[in-house]
Parts: sequence; structure tokens; C-alpha cells
Amino acid sequence: MVAQFTNSVIWYFLYSTSSARDHATLFSARNFLNARGVSKEPMKNINAATELLDNYTDALIIAATLEFFGMNTIEDQPKEHTFHMMNMDPYVYVNDTMKTLVKKFAIHEGPELRTVQIKCDTCGKEYRRVATLRKHIREKHEGTMAHQSADKDAIFNYSCGALSLCLVLRNFVDA
Ligand SMILES: [Zn+2]
Repeated sequence: MVAQFTNSVIWYFLYSTSSARDHATLFSARNFLNARGVSKEPMKNINAATELLDNYTDALIIAATLEFFGMNTIEDQPKEHTFHMMNMDPYVYVNDTMKTLVKKFAIHEGPELRTVQIKCDTCGKEYRRVATLRKHIREKHEGTMAHQSADKDAIFNYSCGALSLCLVLRNFVDA
């Protein structure tokens, strides 16, 4: 029951068919993974929706982990937050590192999850949804620095918000 509710909340916040071209969104993941059974109504095919969310959650966790350790692929050696055997306690390292990772990516005050209006930095127009603001920036300020950094910020914020929600859901499912 709780899992179904969370599932609906995730759909409400993250699932938008206008976000097909946007990297990292749940809808682009649906298309990438060819999850045709998934629609705007997750309850219509709850198994397909659950499977997509599960894969999407895994992908977000891997992406956050790679970013955190400064790696491009899972075969790379970590370049950041590395473990030094000589002067670090493994238990303390794992504990601290996981805390920092979760704080950086999962507990994130991204505008995607707020209900307040968000502003276009260039012209000051206000929007309720990040997706709409991005559409505005793409159409009105294309090619500008604002356009590029807004896209980057939006992807980061969306992904962090998505990861937080997906981890909450996974926690319920596992419990
Ligand atoms: Zn604007």
C-alpha cells in the first residue's frame, strides 16, 4: 500500500512525456529501455512500472557513485574520495564516505521537488515545474550560457530528486 502510494508520487513528480529528449528523466529511461508497457498510468501495468523504476533506481545509484568517485566507467579506478590503507580505518572510511555520498546526491534540495515557483535566471519569468522552465530556456535563450548551465543544473537536480524518491520507494519495498 505504501509502496503503491510512493510509486504514484514518483510518477507525479518524475513522469512527463514531454521530457523524452531530456537526458536522465524517467521517461527517457522508459524509451531507452524500451519499456512499452509503461504509460502515464502506472497502475495499468504495475509490473512494468515497477520493473522500470527498479532499473531506473539502479542506474541512478550507479551514476551517482561514478560521479562521486570521479570515474567514467565502472572499470575505472576511483580518482576522488579514495581509500588510503595506510592511514584510514576501513570502517570509518566506509561509514563517512557513504554518508557524504547520500548527502550529496540523495538528500538534495533540488527545485524539482519544491512546489514554489522557480525563476529563469536570464529574464526572471517564473515557473512551477523544472521541465517547463527548461522548455522556456531552450526556446527563448537557446545557445546562451544560461541555456547550457540551466540544462546541466536541471539534469543534476532532477536526478538527485529522482534518486531520493526512488530510494524511499526501495526502502519500503525492502522493508
Ligand atoms: Zn527566460
